[in-house]
Amino acid sequence: MDNNAPACPVCRITAQPYFNDIDYILECGRCGIIFDMRSSLDKKYYEKERSTHVDKDKIRSRERNVSQRAALIKGFLYKEASVLDIGCGEGLFLKEIKRYVADIQGLEPTEFYADYARIELKIDVIQGMIEDTDFPEASFNIITMFHVLEHFQDPGMALGKISRWLKPGGCLVIEVPDISSPYARYKGPAWELIIPEHRFHFTLKSLTGLLQRHNFIPAITRNRDFDQYRVGIGESMRKLLPFSAKIKKSEKVIRQTKIKKNSPHKEGKQYVKNIRRSAQLPLKAFLGWLVYKFRRGDYLFVVAKKTR
Ligand SMILES: [Zn+2]
Repeated sequence: MDNNAPACPVCRITAQPYFNDIDYILECGRCGIIFDMRSSLDKKYYEKERSTHVDKDKIRSRERNVSQRAALIKGFLYKEASVLDIGCGEGLFLKEIKRYVADIQGLEPTEFYADYARIELKIDVIQGMIEDTDFPEASFNIITMFHVLEHFQDPGMALGKISRWLKPGGCLVIEVPDISSPYARYKGPAWELIIPEHRFHFTLKSLTGLLQRHNFIPAITRNRDFDQYRVGIGESMRKLLPFSAKIKKSEKVIRQTKIKKNSPHKEGKQYVKNIRRSAQLPLKAFLGWLVYKFRRGDYLFVVAKKTR
């Protein structure tokens, strides 16, 4: 084996480029995990720089998002359950499910989010990274992780800890970007969720394989999407179109940056823009529903049961 060739962080065997002419995104031939060589664990970024203010629009959008997630796991929630949300952000998901369970706990590396959850939502949040955190064995019935697993440097270590923290028969709920979604295939390397912050990219097959290695058996698997009101009409339409062949070219990587101009008619334009946006809402909601219904979304949502 070539010692200089990049190896799969999970299997330690040599990996191959996933896209034809991009050398930093590699795929493991054994476990199918795709990983980005550019990423590294930047604790300072996660702890301090990630967020410093609340965007009210974003909060509203996230609230719609968490209510959809909560609806998907309703059947797994019960009065006596204790729940840990890893990477809980502002604590919106825990706030949403609080009334259905006995006990909620958040773990969040970003100081600003952890403080927001504690002060604004009165949720018990430990500020820290999973690498530096430990709970007693069998502390929780349900552990949730939304858009977190793809950031870890060592997902095996994380899943080992989670398995230990879960009670026998406990559930792990995961949501990650799905690099094999119709839209991701269409966009190729230009897909918006391929960013250096995302160390790993999963498909249903590689995610369930990884979970099974750590003694989790998937009970629910499905695709869902961003908040439907924030996804553009064109993007939703594209997601609903028949499968496109996987693009293995990098020519689409060049992203267009919009230059903001200060115009004297800015306020008027904003007003027209707002009206247009409200008029589009029913259509956006309908398309979002179709994307959800036909499982064409960019997110992979999995509920897995601990087997031992
Ligand atoms: Zn591998």
